[in-house]
Amino acid sequence: MSEQTVRNSTQRWKDLDVRHHLAPFTDYKQIKVDGDGARIITSAKGVFLTDSEGNKILDGMAGLWCVNLGYGRDELAQVAYEQMKELPYYNSFFKTTTPPTVELAEKLSSLTPKGLDYIFYGSSGSESNDTVMRMVRFYWNQAGKPEKTHFTSHNLAYHGSTLAGASLGGMTAMQEGFGLPLPGIHHVTPPYWYDLGGDMTPEEFGIKAAKAVEEKILEIGADKVAAFIGEPIQGAGGVIIPPAGYWAEIQRICRQYDVLIIADEVICGFGRTGKMFGCQTFGIQPDMMTMAKGITSGYQPLSAVAVSDKIGKTLIDRGGEFFHGYTYSGHPVACAVALKNIQLIEEGGYLAQIETVTGPHLAKRLAGLKDHPLVGEVRSIGLIGAVEMVKNKQTRERFENDGAVGARCRDHCVANGIMLRAVRDAMVMSPPLIITVQEIDSLIDKLTLALDATARDLKVL
Ligand code: PMP
Repeated sequence: MSEQTVRNSTQRWKDLDVRHHLAPFTDYKQIKVDGDGARIITSAKGVFLTDSEGNKILDGMAGLWCVNLGYGRDELAQVAYEQMKELPYYNSFFKTTTPPTVELAEKLSSLTPKGLDYIFYGSSGSESNDTVMRMVRFYWNQAGKPEKTHFTSHNLAYHGSTLAGASLGGMTAMQEGFGLPLPGIHHVTPPYWYDLGGDMTPEEFGIKAAKAVEEKILEIGADKVAAFIGEPIQGAGGVIIPPAGYWAEIQRICRQYDVLIIADEVICGFGRTGKMFGCQTFGIQPDMMTMAKGITSGYQPLSAVAVSDKIGKTLIDRGGEFFHGYTYSGHPVACAVALKNIQLIEEGGYLAQIETVTGPHLAKRLAGLKDHPLVGEVRSIGLIGAVEMVKNKQTRERFENDGAVGARCRDHCVANGIMLRAVRDAMVMSPPLIITVQEIDSLIDKLTLALDATARDLKVL
């Protein structure tokens, strides 16, 4: 393509985006009036994105925490093609279903923590959490405790952008002005030691944070609390890794008060932490688990809710229609891609590689950033990590305009050829699971350049 053609098509797509596209989580004035428009991503291979101007960018976020197997996997394209030819769609509503739908249900039952043997499908993480809200209430009705309707969740949690997802989540900006959260949803402190732990050790703080759940349950009345929902690691909230002991204490509390535990594995699932699920990394035995993103490595929209035998059997024994579902629940193409994706994750040896090679290497390289003048803390597990930037490393004092430094550093990252995300003033990362040691080196070398550039902007370097 000539340079002129490249410029013309890029300009055309940017113009179309400005004129007709309302992108998610976007300030429309900023992008359409004040800014220079969107970057147009045109292709990708392995861990690298290519934009319409030919720039190659290392994708440190695996898309939106989802392209676990990396880009350009022929096997996934092939299986989608074959399934589309064989049966592109059929539903599971009226006593019908399809082979990939049930094959995947069995596969997920075998992979998820013991006792989660039933699967309900959707097309997105948000939908799966909507399903949870309805199924939990349906379950308690059927179990003869209809007064158990309340949910507890974390501040800074992300559980999706539908009305239920945004309500279960703890992002106030998604709730204020939208009439949310829905009634009956209560948020407690996240196990965010660096931000909230003060002088406590992480373990002490973890126990204190878990106790906040207990206090909330008692405040509402245990007989009214249906479930606690949490991400094993809070991703969009800033890669908040809970201190050791936190989840064990949460489990003890929830069991004591007969409160269901819902693990939102939308980010942690399918290898992100070095195990198939975050629940395995943290020893969580949930009653329900939501999955999406990495279930197909983002090649098809698909989500699933794994449901415990206890809940499933109650619904089966008691009967009564569950008035809930989506046209694309159990979509055969998405399920066929998921089956192949899981097979590739298992056979590719990625989990062992993350646990023994790439995960520790990322942690080591992140630790090397600790002396940087902007860096207050680094943390990671497997291939998910964060670098917290603060004004004062000793006191952990934050910058005044929360998020401005993060946004600046993110722009420097992209200018240096890496795609990372800023959450407030933390740079977060979740590269494809296929990333090599050399590519991790490149990612962190470029992040270092971006941190330096940010520090120079702030005149601290
Ligand atoms: N749960 C978690 C933990 C997530 O990170 C996300 C998306 N980032 C969701 C749910 C919502 O998923 P989706 O965007 O596919 O609706």
